[in-house]
Amino acid sequence: MFDISTIRKDFPILDSQVYGKPLVYLDNGATTQKPKCVLDKLNDCYLHHNANVHRGVHFLSQDATDLHEASRRTVQKFINASSSDEIIFTRGTTESINLVAYSFSETFLREGDEVIVSDMEHHSNIVSWQLVQRRKGIVIKHARITENQELDFEHFKSLFTERTKLVSITHVSNVLGTINPVEEIVAYAHSRNVPVLIDGAQSTPHIRVDVQALDVDFLVFSGHKIYGPTGVGVLYGKRKWLEQMIPYQGGGEMIQSVSFENTTFNELPYKFEAGTPDFIGTVGLASALDYVTSIGLDSIAAYETQLLQYATDKFKSIPGMQIYGNASDKSAVLSFLVEGIHHYDMGLLLDKMGIAVRTGHHCAQPLMQVLGIEGTVRASFSFYNTFEEVDSLVAGIQRVCKMFGV
Ligand code: PMP
Repeated sequence: MFDISTIRKDFPILDSQVYGKPLVYLDNGATTQKPKCVLDKLNDCYLHHNANVHRGVHFLSQDATDLHEASRRTVQKFINASSSDEIIFTRGTTESINLVAYSFSETFLREGDEVIVSDMEHHSNIVSWQLVQRRKGIVIKHARITENQELDFEHFKSLFTERTKLVSITHVSNVLGTINPVEEIVAYAHSRNVPVLIDGAQSTPHIRVDVQALDVDFLVFSGHKIYGPTGVGVLYGKRKWLEQMIPYQGGGEMIQSVSFENTTFNELPYKFEAGTPDFIGTVGLASALDYVTSIGLDSIAAYETQLLQYATDKFKSIPGMQIYGNASDKSAVLSFLVEGIHHYDMGLLLDKMGIAVRTGHHCAQPLMQVLGIEGTVRASFSFYNTFEEVDSLVAGIQRVCKMFGV
């Protein structure tokens, strides 16, 4: 498929030592490491192409604008949007969801209207809607999960009423790894004339997402989780929605003309991009998407699935091990607890062995309540992780178990 040792050379940080031990980085769900080509691209932009975009007549400004707009087209191609006008640059998934929550609700939601989410959402996809709830009195409904921590599709369908105005749901759970059946979700919601927002924060780095094939209305994701820089993200929206939605923030490139009597707004996508955009971040993001494309999302998904299977099999032989997330269709995330060991202790001790995992509620407290736990330890894998690193993780967990006498 691909040569892992060549790939790892692209990520200088993976050669680091922590506490004198080789770093085993298994916190990719939180953020991914950056390949050198992305870092070089950022550096090159600051060194040779830095000037504010859109407003300048001078060479450098046009150069920066060209690079920024070319990046928009790279994103368009990556998710197969029909037009680059439907690609809005934001700060990340959270800002993209907040943008839709604000702008969509101002135009389309009235008191008593309903938005459906699920029990496995990240706080970004809950609290954004709760803010709308406070402002406009909307109702938030949440679809349950099954015993295997998959979406309870029958329950999901039962939540629809005449007042349902939007489904906003994660593609992949950042805690469970569950891959939701977005094709079926979109098809069912559309059969009820309800648009769908997909939170692609955890899917876009691992699975091919084609917005036209899915016919999804909105897709959001973050640059930093897909090997790009921090502070830049994407909102894809179908033109028919974006055109009707009011701007999210005011200022900068989002205007057509401004007067104290009558301000008019710019066309798409600029209507939603107030202020100076992170025009160097967008170029870095495009470079990351090119990198991912060059490896191939199908190869990435196939390799990560092997890693997940290998890790899951090994975990099952650890006494007291409980895995959270047993969906049949799963991304490379392993959340777990070992009986008698607090997740925080497990995380701290693994860290001392050079193994970076995440512990806690993973910004999914409602899901923790459903699971009846406070938090988990989460190992999340990337295509640059190796089977040897999985062995290190398993050996590390076994060592911690010994320390605790379990
Ligand atoms: N949704 C999901 C499913 C996530 O995993 C995350 C990040 N953990 C977010 C939303 C928020 O992403 P960001 O912090 O980059 O805005």
